[in-house]
Amino acid sequence: MRAEQLWALMRHFPGVMAANICNALVFVIACWDTEKFPLALGWAAVVWSIVSLMVLRQWVRRTSARKATGRRGGGQRLLLYALALGLAWAALPLLFFESASLGGKLLITCLSSGMLGGGVFVIASLPSAALAFSGPIAIGSLIALLRVGDTEHILMAIVLTVYSAVLFLGSFSYAKELRNLVETQINAEEKASASAKNLGALANMAAGLAHEISQPLAAATAYVSSVERLLRIPAEERPVPIERPLRSAAAQLEHARQIIAQLRDSITNDGAERRLLHLHDVIRSVIEANRPRQEKTHTHIEANLAASNDLILANPVEVRQVFTNLITNAFDAMQSSLERTLTISSRAFNENSIRIEVADTGVGVSPAIKTQLFEPLMTTKAHGLGVGLPITRSIVREYHGDIWFEPNPDGGTVFIVVLPVEKA
Ligand code: ADP
Repeated sequence: MRAEQLWALMRHFPGVMAANICNALVFVIACWDTEKFPLALGWAAVVWSIVSLMVLRQWVRRTSARKATGRRGGGQRLLLYALALGLAWAALPLLFFESASLGGKLLITCLSSGMLGGGVFVIASLPSAALAFSGPIAIGSLIALLRVGDTEHILMAIVLTVYSAVLFLGSFSYAKELRNLVETQINAEEKASASAKNLGALANMAAGLAHEISQPLAAATAYVSSVERLLRIPAEERPVPIERPLRSAAAQLEHARQIIAQLRDSITNDGAERRLLHLHDVIRSVIEANRPRQEKTHTHIEANLAASNDLILANPVEVRQVFTNLITNAFDAMQSSLERTLTISSRAFNENSIRIEVADTGVGVSPAIKTQLFEPLMTTKAHGLGVGLPITRSIVREYHGDIWFEPNPDGGTVFIVVLPVEKA
């Protein structure tokens, strides 16, 4: 708020400084050839010195690199300068009014009322500074008028008091309006930024959802296609019974349904339900779900699930998602490899956790994105979304586990997941 008040004020700064210099100069010229000239010059010198100090200070502040720090103390300093200048201008009627000619009195009245009214107008956004500057001028002028003491001057003093009071009240109400205006603006900006953030979160969620359900849907499509092919073969010659791919397709569709249900739960804050489950079973079911792709790409899958304790407390859909993402990425990475081997192994990491490795013989992680692999929207694939690994890591971390990757000594990449296990 203080910054807006200062800004409203500082845009008049050059004009105010020029007015102070010129008005003081006008008075000095008016006193030319009079006995008051040395005193007038001395008085003007005080005004010019204060103005020079203010200009110098402003220049230093502008050229200083630490603008923000300067601005913080700016309000108080300005109050001091306003008071100093106000006191200097208050001295004008006090020193010269009583003994001045009629013309001189007129000039002093013009200069004092100009500085008083102009001061409040220009510093209106900061009422304390307006009061510090124009208050002494009003008081000085009042004293000077009352010192003369005749009826006209007393009437002028009354008018001056009323005008000053109206001016000061105007300054306070202007500052209040300015404050309200700025507050309304800040509130509107905060609301706009909050809804922009919500939109961003929504877009991320939509991208994540598209990525997650596209995998089981693609698998279900592959199973249904294989059913179509099997139907063209006479029943007794079919290599596998037709029920098998149908069951697998149904399982994939169920998985997609669970993902959507889980999303609905997370939106309604029901949370993902956790239960005790055997991690090896989940991994095997993911491997099974990838059979069509394995066959199509002639990939050799080795499952070496040797950990003696694979009991975890988790939501099956989330854990499935972790290994679906890792295995899908491994298949993608091996697309152009001659030797395609996917090795999934497990062993105890320590007494309380299990370590699972998903190793492929693919292209390896591109050095350009090595450090940002888990960042959202980081992808090297033409149709990738770059949300699989961020989702995977957030699930693993939710279970107080860890995930990282290392180069595979046989070429390719190994993703390592560590998850806490329950007592078997
Ligand atoms: P997406 O699969 O949509 O690109 P991910 O977050 O799952 O999103 O993966 C991000 C990027 O990480 C991939 O585009 C790929 O470059 C890299 N990556 C992930 N897994 C592997 C892997 N096994 N081998 C090589 N690169 C990988």
